[in-house]
Amino acid sequence: MTRSRSMNLAAFSRTVRWHRRWMVQAGLLGLALAMVPALGQAQRGAPRFEVKNYVIDAELLTSQHLLTAKARVDIVPNSDITSLSFELQSSLRVEKVVDTTGQEISYNQQGQTLNLSLLNPLPASKPASITVTYGGMLNSADSSPVEGLKVAYVGPEGSYLLYPGRWFPVSAYSVNRFSATMNITVPSDETVIASGKASAPVRETGKVTYTYEFDKSSFPGTVIAGRYVVQPATAVGADIAIYVKAGHENLAASYGETAARIFTFYSDVFGPLPSGHFALVEIGDDTVGGYTAPGVVALASRAITNPVNYRLLAHEISHLWWRCLVSPASPDDAFLDEGLAEYSKALYIQQTAGDAAFEDLMSETEVGAQTHEEVSPIAQAAQLHEFTPEYQSIVFDKGAMVFHMLRWVIGDDAFRKTLRAMTQQYAWKSISADQFQRLAEKASKQELTYFFAQWVNSTGVPQFKRNWAVYRLPKGYQVVGKVQQDLDIFRMPVEIRVMCQGSKPVTQRIDMVGTTADFTIDTRTKPLRVLIDPGSRILKYDEKTRYQVEMARADQLSQQQAYLDAIKQYQEVLKINSNSSLAHYRMGEIHFKLRNYNAAMEEFRRALDGDLDPKWIEVWSHLELGKIFDVTGQRDRALNEYQRALQTNDNTQGALDEANRYIQKPYKTPVPTN
Ligand SMILES: [Zn+2]
Repeated sequence: MTRSRSMNLAAFSRTVRWHRRWMVQAGLLGLALAMVPALGQAQRGAPRFEVKNYVIDAELLTSQHLLTAKARVDIVPNSDITSLSFELQSSLRVEKVVDTTGQEISYNQQGQTLNLSLLNPLPASKPASITVTYGGMLNSADSSPVEGLKVAYVGPEGSYLLYPGRWFPVSAYSVNRFSATMNITVPSDETVIASGKASAPVRETGKVTYTYEFDKSSFPGTVIAGRYVVQPATAVGADIAIYVKAGHENLAASYGETAARIFTFYSDVFGPLPSGHFALVEIGDDTVGGYTAPGVVALASRAITNPVNYRLLAHEISHLWWRCLVSPASPDDAFLDEGLAEYSKALYIQQTAGDAAFEDLMSETEVGAQTHEEVSPIAQAAQLHEFTPEYQSIVFDKGAMVFHMLRWVIGDDAFRKTLRAMTQQYAWKSISADQFQRLAEKASKQELTYFFAQWVNSTGVPQFKRNWAVYRLPKGYQVVGKVQQDLDIFRMPVEIRVMCQGSKPVTQRIDMVGTTADFTIDTRTKPLRVLIDPGSRILKYDEKTRYQVEMARADQLSQQQAYLDAIKQYQEVLKINSNSSLAHYRMGEIHFKLRNYNAAMEEFRRALDGDLDPKWIEVWSHLELGKIFDVTGQRDRALNEYQRALQTNDNTQGALDEANRYIQKPYKTPVPTN
């Protein structure tokens, strides 16, 4: 699937994180917070049984997009049970289920739920096994557990069976940790990559079987297969095998080097992993941007770029710690997985790209956190769907902000100790938000209930106001002021910075408890301005984020193809900044898509008359105007716009190349494919 130019530009302009991470397709995001069908929730509370281990024999008949498999599921019941329930992707049909003695077990499949009824109850605490034989076609997103997004696919150009694809019987998704042995048979020219120790592949006519054994308790439920070019990349403490598809060989080395650097950095900060080996594997483009299983980091083809997409890589590699080594105890604790992965990425960026890049990333994260912040507290993440903008906003972005703020509250040293304690005391185990809080309290010797109550268990973002007066002192000046915000239970250290004439700013940290706090700051030279939280250490709402948050909401609606709502939302943006070229440009794009060319033209012209922020709007508005003239048969006017596009000399997203192309050959409305 190709994406339209405007989508690329949208992603480019805002570095829309969620857009890059997974494919946004029509309809995927349509239902904001739809009522959650129970799967996640049904399994909350004390689980009735635990899966300990899987032995899966699977064959991928790639030319037919078929998976046939037999999965032995080793379980331990927590109480006497007469029924079992699993998730299994609905396009996979069960043929037979047997118990340890080979006796058949009756079953039924309803959508994604596989229910087994046992004639003989399974007694509590006694290990038992059931074996499920099943198969089916995995070639479209129609029956995907993630609406509109393929997460399990079998095909001749490469197969990926990601754990979120529920391609084997899954219990307590993302919570129940297990070990696994995978015997995967593929056509003889393909390679299989999975978690754990590999045995020598066994060949027979036309096919080959790979065996991977992962004996620790984790999520070794991801299998990737295809024709690969393999390159090793080693660094101190890291042993990485790079699997790229033909055409990307030239990028393997730079990806290997960057991956090794990221891995080494995390090993230093979080503590080393038991194994320094992992595979970095390219997968298809019609799925998530990246996914990480124990020892396997998968990146979509579009994420393998020159220069290296090190942000995504840093996020994914951190999952070797946060998820594979230590995972959330329940879906409500998901910020300890994705939120921490986002913040790990930020730590890496601070280390390699410096404080300015780090601050930019955190202010992006701050905006992302506020696009849906009010929908749910982080601690109720189970009510959100994975792979939705709400999940992105709350679990990823606000989650990352929680770690950022915790670091500010307890200090770098205690923060680092907390993460280390997590990997040491919870290796191959799960951790709850409460347990995490206790680790942070121990490392910092501070009581932190207030912090978690405010940021994890509640919604709400403070909006600071300040007033201040300046007094002359014998030597210099004194600024006396008050900070206010409206959250009643608020308690945080807040940084106040006074900008001074001709000398360095003076910064003071005050402890704010409740809605107001006073400050007194002496300066040598004349105070000019007072800034609250200049380093963006606190998730807060202000004029700057307000504009960006409203814009991000509009962009999401547009990408969900909810065009009328998106236009209304862009009009909200214009109420905040009537000069916003970007809002006009986006509306122009929507009208253009809807072939409402007069309205589109008007918006692109307004975009050119606005603040031209970001700068690429100029070249792209001329280009879009040219296209409108072309499709409406006014070639001279079109050529004039393309010339004006060229005059900007701005080749953002290949704008000049495109202008030259249309100067050669008029733009035509593309015939829709698929
Ligand atoms: Zn992630």
